[in-house]
Amino acid sequence: MSCTLHIHVDYLGVDLPLAGLSPLQAAVLDQAACACCHATAPDLRPAGHIYTTSPTAGRLGWAVSVCPACPDRSTAR
Ligand SMILES: [Zn+2]
Repeated sequence: MSCTLHIHVDYLGVDLPLAGLSPLQAAVLDQAACACCHATAPDLRPAGHIYTTSPTAGRLGWAVSVCPACPDRSTAR
């Protein structure tokens, strides 16, 4: 996935099904991995939100982070 997404509000632009998250996506939502390149850098920084949907929990917004190598478009306006 490219790093050129417009993420100041919604990082992915699509909602993920909460029940179908991959371990990698779960790590991103847990802010344990970069939302862009999925690296587990120790100095991740805030980069907007990813949204999930669930029949029971509804639509949830998750703060996500990116590593220093990926653009932080949440503050690049
Ligand atoms: Zn990254």
